[in-house]
Amino acid sequence: MVLVFLDQAEGHIKKSSFEAACYGAKVAEQLGTVAEGIVLGNVSDDLATLGKYGLKKIHTVKNDGLNHLDAQVYANVLAQAVNTAGATVVVFSNNLSGKAVAPRLSAKLKAGLVSGAVALPDTSNGFVVKKNVFSGKAFANIAVNSAVKIIALNPNAYSITETAGAADVAELSVTVPAAKVSVTAVNKIVGEVPLSEAELVISGGRGLKGPENWGLVTDLAKLLGAATACSRAVADVHWRPHHEHVGQTGLAIAPNLYFAIAISGAIQHLAGVNRSKVIVVINKDPEAPFFKAADYGIVGDAFEVMPKIIDAVKKLKGA
Ligand SMILES: Cc1cc2nc3c(=O)[nH]c(=O)nc-3n(C[C@H](O)[C@H](O)[C@H](O)COP(=O)(O)OP(=O)(O)OC[C@H]3O[C@@H](n4cnc5c(N)ncnc54)[C@H](O)[C@@H]3O)c2cc1C
Repeated sequence: MVLVFLDQAEGHIKKSSFEAACYGAKVAEQLGTVAEGIVLGNVSDDLATLGKYGLKKIHTVKNDGLNHLDAQVYANVLAQAVNTAGATVVVFSNNLSGKAVAPRLSAKLKAGLVSGAVALPDTSNGFVVKKNVFSGKAFANIAVNSAVKIIALNPNAYSITETAGAADVAELSVTVPAAKVSVTAVNKIVGEVPLSEAELVISGGRGLKGPENWGLVTDLAKLLGAATACSRAVADVHWRPHHEHVGQTGLAIAPNLYFAIAISGAIQHLAGVNRSKVIVVINKDPEAPFFKAADYGIVGDAFEVMPKIIDAVKKLKGA
């Protein structure tokens, strides 16, 4: 059986989990078995509908101690679930929780883990999974030989398809261990689209010359309902807060649209954004490395181009 970890936030299953579910269902089909999901904590979503992503059954562990991600507790509960439900493959999304929990589960079960998978496993001769390496500059094919295999799938690496079907939902009997750490406060950024889950991201670089010019980024973001991001160079000089910094040492994101304004496209920046579906780059230097990664590029001065784009979007939206 293939077990898919369905990640939740505030009682709702995250979109990245739908992708993991479809991927898990396809892996199960390849192996001639079924895919099932597991949800930890209390959720308000109708879990039976997750059957449309190919899951036959959803195991739930309703427990207040699981409402917030605690990687040690989650790994402990999932290890019990793998043994009880008899899973041979476990699929995570390679998002923040997947990155925290999958390695711990791997250590507990002595299971081989491929994190950052980008394709279905090749099961023609063993179990070989393709993954990104060197910040997305190359691929590696990893053969997993352990009895239980764990895959953490990169967001946006597999498309979501829906079919007819409802999943059975059943509570799984496991012991939830006491947490070794407790959450004393959660300070949420309010009034902004959260960057890690955003479908659209407008991002600015050092070429914007100063925080006083950030209206060019935030105006377009507001019009499109997008999140805002920036390069590390910008966060380092405090033009923007550090939680907006994307890249190798910042947040890795995978939106449908990444709109980069006056960012050079250094490899460390690309490492955090190259999984975006569509990349648009505006840079006055035609040799800027970002153009090599761009789907659409405008060679031009952001201070001339951006007001025109903002006006055009306003007209389109009737704003
Ligand atoms: C170990 C390590 C980790 C790092 N991690 C990260 C990371 O996580 N994220 C990250 O972003 N960086 C990271 N960096 C830094 C990275 O190498 C770059 O220095 C940084 O990304 C540059 O930011 P930038 O493109 O905004 O600035 P710059 O390199 O200064 O580029 C500015 C760009 O704006 C263009 N420009 C200037 N004026 C205009 C204009 N008027 N209109 C249009 N275009 C204009 C220029 O042509 C240029 O391409 C890391 C570096 C190291 C060594």
